[in-house]
Amino acid sequence: MGDGFVIQSISNSSGNNRENSKKGKDKKKKKKKRGGSNKKMTTEQTLAFKSVSEWVFLDQPSALTSSAASCVVDDFGVQKALGRGGEKVVFELHSHSKCSDGFLSPSKVVERAHGNGVKVLAMTDHDTLSGIPEALETARKYGIKIIPGVEISTMFSPSGDSEAEEPVHILAYYSSCGPTRFEDLDKFLANIRDGRFDRAKNMVLKLNNLKLALKWEHVCRIAGKGVAPGRLHVARALVEAGYVENLRQAFSRYLFDGGPAYSTGSEPMAEEAIEMICNTGGIAVLAHPWALKNPVPIIRRLKEAGLHGMEVYRSDGKLGAYSDLADAYGLLKLGGSDYHGRGGHHESELGSVNIPVLALNEFLKVARPIWCSAIREIFESYAEDPSDSNLDKIMRFGRTRIFKGGSPLSCGKDLIDHCLPHWLTNEEMENPEFDAIKLKLSNISVIQGGIKVLVAST
Ligand SMILES: [Zn+2]
Ligand SMILES: [Zn+2]
Repeated sequence: MGDGFVIQSISNSSGNNRENSKKGKDKKKKKKKRGGSNKKMTTEQTLAFKSVSEWVFLDQPSALTSSAASCVVDDFGVQKALGRGGEKVVFELHSHSKCSDGFLSPSKVVERAHGNGVKVLAMTDHDTLSGIPEALETARKYGIKIIPGVEISTMFSPSGDSEAEEPVHILAYYSSCGPTRFEDLDKFLANIRDGRFDRAKNMVLKLNNLKLALKWEHVCRIAGKGVAPGRLHVARALVEAGYVENLRQAFSRYLFDGGPAYSTGSEPMAEEAIEMICNTGGIAVLAHPWALKNPVPIIRRLKEAGLHGMEVYRSDGKLGAYSDLADAYGLLKLGGSDYHGRGGHHESELGSVNIPVLALNEFLKVARPIWCSAIREIFESYAEDPSDSNLDKIMRFGRTRIFKGGSPLSCGKDLIDHCLPHWLTNEEMENPEFDAIKLKLSNISVIQGGIKVLVAST
């Protein structure tokens, strides 16, 4: 969300705070908690934890917990499972870098996430995947897993009536290899980014008409080179120019949805975005449904369009009403901090949202077969047509570097043998379709720009 002001920073005692807020309704429970805040996992949780950590530590088997029995859950009954060395398996599924309207570079976001104990980070910049390669590069240093993601700006129109349109953000999560049909997705996102330029220009124009002499150049300077300016960048320009005291005021006076300087861009319909996500091997999740005026019809329609899940967890806990809605429509229950790196007390910290291990397991149960097919599709198109552009698709987010003029021994099979163990479990790789692809690739030298290349690990 570009303008959410969600509360609470990371806190070890968040479980207790929540308990305190219930004013000790259940005395027995409270006493038990004082005796020791951790309890054993149920069998179901233990199995879920095993399965989740197997995926998290796929390419670092040494880090895999030897025994899930050493795991504990916190009072929230959830995720704070301790692996070997007392490490937590924390997922952060919603974060922004300065590739959209965040304040930190992708590397800094990864570093900060690592500092907070995050093991899996989804970078979900608005309408762009441009921060993913840098995030991946840094994540390798820290042994963090990156889920390539994007938060797509869309509109929802209840009855095709543009008057009642409402902005809706859809998160997309992709396999380690990225989306299939990358060009289609990229074009889709580029259209939205272009629309953002027009939208931001329009907002500046409206502010100028309100006698606020904000300069377009100022907004672009804040957004930074190559970054599509958004509402937050306009808000920051307003603060810097001294027209408002802080961001909150910029929104509450001028930029709120429907506000005097608000403007819409050329966002696609939410259903179109979901279709695009599904067609490119992604998982589609409704972001911050609590920001919607009328969530029920939106959720109903988007579920029909193929939506996989919705955010229901925040750093201040699970939102019961949204959790019930997710259950009612058979949607995955997820969440994340929506970290932008603004600083200040109101911002949720990276890794501060507790997602129960059972919910994470459900997420991976749905996502992994989809991601596995996506990876297969990407390799298949390379096996069919070993062109530069098809090789780029494997290399874009892959854990490989290519060295031109390297050993002529490397063939397409080496490439797939090198990549797959980082992305898939043995079980997933044992698919006969992968064997068929390998067979095809064993006759193909990896050639880029007419030069044989050596595929090497980094
Ligand atoms: Zn966001
Ligand atoms: Zn958002």
